[in-house]
Amino acid sequence: MALIIDKIREDFPILKETIYNKPLVYLDNAATTQKPQVVLDKLIEVYTKYNANIHRGVHYLSNKATTETENARLTVQKFINAQHSHEVIFARGATEGINLVAHSFGEKFIHAGDEIIVSEMEHHSNLVPWQMVAEKRGARLVKWAFNQAGELELNELEKLISDKTRIIAVNQVSNSLGTINPVKEITALAHRHQVAVLIDGAQAVQHLKVDVQELDCDFYVFSGHKIYGPTGIGVVYGKEGWLNQMPPYQGGGEMIESVSFEKTTYNQLPFKFEAGTPNYADSIALATAIDYLTALGLDDIATYEKELLDYAEAKLLTIPGLEIVGTAKKKTSVVSFNIKGLHAYDVGTLLDKMGIAVRTGTHCTEPVMIHYGISGTVRASFAFYNTRDEIDRLHQGLLKVIELFA
Ligand code: PMP
Repeated sequence: MALIIDKIREDFPILKETIYNKPLVYLDNAATTQKPQVVLDKLIEVYTKYNANIHRGVHYLSNKATTETENARLTVQKFINAQHSHEVIFARGATEGINLVAHSFGEKFIHAGDEIIVSEMEHHSNLVPWQMVAEKRGARLVKWAFNQAGELELNELEKLISDKTRIIAVNQVSNSLGTINPVKEITALAHRHQVAVLIDGAQAVQHLKVDVQELDCDFYVFSGHKIYGPTGIGVVYGKEGWLNQMPPYQGGGEMIESVSFEKTTYNQLPFKFEAGTPNYADSIALATAIDYLTALGLDDIATYEKELLDYAEAKLLTIPGLEIVGTAKKKTSVVSFNIKGLHAYDVGTLLDKMGIAVRTGTHCTEPVMIHYGISGTVRASFAFYNTRDEIDRLHQGLLKVIELFA
C-alpha cells in the first residue's frame, strides 16, 4: 500500500515549523530523524505515569517501568528477529554499542599480532574504537578499500582475510555515500574463515528490513534517534554464544550477581552489559518508534524513499557543475554532492537561509573524503516524510546559491 505522505507529515509536529519565515525543509535525516507525536507522548507518559528506577523495586511504579522496558526489549528482538531477547542490549547509541563490542570482544579474543578488518567507508564511530583496541592489544588494523563508485567488493575482502583476522567491522549502509553493502555475503565469507562480523546498522534499520538471523551476523548495532526514536538510546545485538564469553564493558549496579569487597560475580545476559540505571524511558519510547515504523511498513518506506532518491538525483544532476559523490548501484536515500567552484559549507549556509536543512562537511567519515581527495560534501538525506516538492525547493535553492556566487 502506498504511503499517504500528507497524513504522515501530520504525525511530525516539527515539520510545521518555519525557519526565517520559510517552511522548514528538513533534509538532514541521516544525522537524526524527527519524532512522531506518539514517541513524544510516550516519553510524557513514562515520566507522568510510571517513572521509577527499574529492576530493583518492589513497588508498583518500578514494576510497571520494568515491565515496559522488558516489553521494549521484546519489540526490538522482534524488529531485528533476534533469536533471544537477552541478545538485545540497550546502550546509549550505535557509538557506545560499537565501543562495547570492540573493547569487550577485543579483551577476550584479540591478541598481539591479530588483525581487524575495517572498511574505508566507516563512520568514525566504527573506526576509532577499533584503532583504540588494536593499539591496546597489539593488533593490526587492515583497511578494506572501496571502489570509485563507493562500493565494497567481496573479492577484495577475500584477499584481506588471513588466519590472523579476528573480526570484520562494516556498515550496512554508508552515512556519507548511501551505499548499501552486501552484509549477508560479507558474513558468509567471514564465517567460512571463522571470522566474526560486526555490522553497523545506524543507517540501515530505518530504511531496510533487517533480520539478524538471516544475516547471520555476530553483532549488530543501531541508534534510536536515527529511527524516529529518542536520543541517548541504542541497541547492541550480539549472538548469545559470543556475549556469554565476553567480559562486561562497564562495572556498576545492575550488571552484578553478587559483590563482596574482594570479588564480584556478574549478572546474566543482557544485564551483564547494562551497568547502572538504564535509560528506560527512552528504551520504552524507542519501542513506540519501532511500532510506528513497522505499522507504516518498511517495504513501502523503502519503495517510496527509492522514488525520492531517483527523483532527487535526476533533478540535481541537471544543475551545471554538480557532481554526486557515491554512485553505488544500491543506495538508500542519501545524496552527497559538490558543486564546482563552491565550498560545501557556503552552500549549506545559504540553503539554511532559505529554510532548507542539509549537512555539510566530512560527515564523520574523513577517510571517505581522503579517498576522493575532497574536503567534504553537501549531503541531502531523505526520510519517508519528505516530498518531491521539498526536493524541488532544494533544486531551486541550489540554483539561487549558484546565482549568488556568479
Ligand atoms: N554509524 C553510522 C553509519 C552513522 O551514520 C552514525 C551517526 N551519524 C553512527 C554510526 C553513530 O551513531 P551515534 O552518533 O548515534 O552513536
